[in-house]
Amino acid sequence: MATVHTVKGAVDVGTLGPTLMHEHVFVLTTENVQNYGSGAWWDEEVRVERAVAKLNELSAHGITTIVDPTVIGLGRHIPRIQRIADATDVNIIAATGVYTYGDLPFCYTQRGPGTVMDGPDPMIEDFTRDLTTGIGDTGVKAAFLKCAVEHAEMSPGVERVVRAVARTHVETGAPITVHTSSPEQSGRPVLAILAEERVDMTKVVIGHAGDSNDLEYLMAIADTGAVLGMDRFGIDLFNATSDRVRTIAELAARGYADRMVLSHDASCFMDWFGPDFEALQEAVMPNWNYLHISNDVLPALLEAGLTQAQLDQMLIENPRRYFS
Ligand SMILES: [Zn+2]
Repeated sequence: MATVHTVKGAVDVGTLGPTLMHEHVFVLTTENVQNYGSGAWWDEEVRVERAVAKLNELSAHGITTIVDPTVIGLGRHIPRIQRIADATDVNIIAATGVYTYGDLPFCYTQRGPGTVMDGPDPMIEDFTRDLTTGIGDTGVKAAFLKCAVEHAEMSPGVERVVRAVARTHVETGAPITVHTSSPEQSGRPVLAILAEERVDMTKVVIGHAGDSNDLEYLMAIADTGAVLGMDRFGIDLFNATSDRVRTIAELAARGYADRMVLSHDASCFMDWFGPDFEALQEAVMPNWNYLHISNDVLPALLEAGLTQAQLDQMLIENPRRYFS
């Protein structure tokens, strides 16, 4: 049996169980938290405690693993995640990569191909270290790669991240998750670059594909072998749950249940919406939390004609195959 690295160490992939393939614990702008949050709206102890409570609740609803694509640009801080992982039974799988819609972080702009310090991309070395040696001095290994392609017309910085992720995948075998924009159908140019880099498409999740109900677009992705991230349940502003469910049912009926995974892209706290994130979440997006799939979506999918075996495929077998 293959093993996969979680924040608490390596586990047999067969033990992952029902898995949400794209959930954040925290999404933070680290310098914002350090300069404006500490002593004001960011209380480390309270936030850690609430995250543990939310994960324990998730575990009580039968979900045993979350896959957390929080990378550089989204405030990844593994010592904090270790504290949380130690206090819950839910497996948390960490990622490596860079999240940007445009420019690279400055620590990479002057080094790498075509720069003043021309040479191999330093991102590849950093990603590889996270996957093989561990992140910082935590000993925690990342188990997958993450990049973001928000615009179909990729900036040079974004393309460098995608290629660095692809090359690290080819060297290490680590699977990939890509943030994409369904309105811009940015999954298409991503897949073209990944194919050029000879990536194993069965190890790629095209994230946020579930924001689309365009079957032609979704089947074009899945026909490459890539997995569709039906992973923003609860963000009704982008696509209502009823439409997301109907699209999954239609794809399952056409034989694609082996290429879909489920999630919310939720988090316990993110600073993008300010200090009152939880109040806003409840007022504006009441379903955007870890429990919407367990409480509402799975029953709706059964109602829409999916079988329990197909739900297990999307929640258990597809994640296991991705990490094998
Ligand atoms: Zn996300």
